[in-house]
Amino acid sequence: MAFFDLVDFDNHEQVVFCSDEASGLKAIIAVHSTKLGAAVGGCRMWDYASDEEALVDVLRLSKGMTYKNAMAGLTMGGGKSVIIGDAKTLKSDELFKAFGRALNGLGGRYLSAEDVNITTADIAIANTETPYVTGTEGKSGNPAPFTALGTFLGIKASAKHKLGRDDLKGLTVAVQGLGSVGFYLCEHLHKAGANLVVNDINKEALDKAQRQFNAEVVGLNDIYDVDCDIYAPCALGATINDSTIDRIKAKIVAGCANNQLAEPRHDQALVERGILYAPDYVINAGGIINVSFEEDYSSDKATRKVEEIYDTLIDVFTKADSEQKPTGQVADAIAREIIARGGK
Ligand code: NAD
Repeated sequence: MAFFDLVDFDNHEQVVFCSDEASGLKAIIAVHSTKLGAAVGGCRMWDYASDEEALVDVLRLSKGMTYKNAMAGLTMGGGKSVIIGDAKTLKSDELFKAFGRALNGLGGRYLSAEDVNITTADIAIANTETPYVTGTEGKSGNPAPFTALGTFLGIKASAKHKLGRDDLKGLTVAVQGLGSVGFYLCEHLHKAGANLVVNDINKEALDKAQRQFNAEVVGLNDIYDVDCDIYAPCALGATINDSTIDRIKAKIVAGCANNQLAEPRHDQALVERGILYAPDYVINAGGIINVSFEEDYSSDKATRKVEEIYDTLIDVFTKADSEQKPTGQVADAIAREIIARGGK
């Protein structure tokens, strides 16, 4: 494989392949940029179809973290890690201890928090071997409620810009994925009076959403066809792609998933369909903002900073309108300016 020629390679500073035979650990850690500070980003555990798929995922996710942290005004660089394997069968204390030792190898250039299939309990086990973790229990803790709050406020900002109202009462939101973030997001949306249409591969989460939020449940592939105002991708990435984009009836795409666009050109494709896109790394920064308060933690301070996501998004939307450019492109340009300046 011509690694440096990969489309998703973006001059990442360092990419480390780690393995530990005894525990079965196979992980890739990508440090995209430390220009604004030590790289911070979650660790994802996923049963990737191939090592190449895992590599592409970690390259894209780590770059997204650089842009996310810059845009949120944090003094942190961007990085991410992936553990390859089925979280249901491969997780063990030994695996996370080995992951912790692997983090030591980077000497603090990268700090890991949690992402898909990784919990604060897993990070606590890694923490017995390394100081280079964050988002730990007893300090900033689980970032998901803050990601959900930021996403909720980002949905309101999107509705304000596209529909001229940020009251969500009576609007229909299709939420794909009722995991750590998706479920909290549904709570906010339900409280705000939105109608929910949801899906997930986890039946228990669906039953709970039906019971608690009177949510309508649709099949995995049917979420794209839902007649709704807002589509909120909250599972995995690349759900805006050539086979889904023409099916989306929503006027707004705004959710917490990372890397929602399969390819950068889908940004323009959404504009052509009259759909407002809330750039993923802007709307889903709530969790990392909370993590940035890890030392001397204050939930109030973190919440106030998360609330800035509303205005940051409004700025992106307004600039996109005035420059007649897709919102994702505009957000990227702003993030790159912030990085070049050395901070927001
Ligand atoms: P999670 O693993 O808790 O939740 C993901 C949910 O998606 C699970 O309930 C899973 O069953 C469901 N799912 C998987 N495949 C699906 C499919 N094909 N269709 C519908 N549902 C499916 O993860 P999370 O922490 O809630 O994160 C969700 C997304 O948000 C991810 O893309 C993650 O990278 C991103 N994100 C999370 C945070 C955070 O604070 N946890 C922060 C920023 C971004």
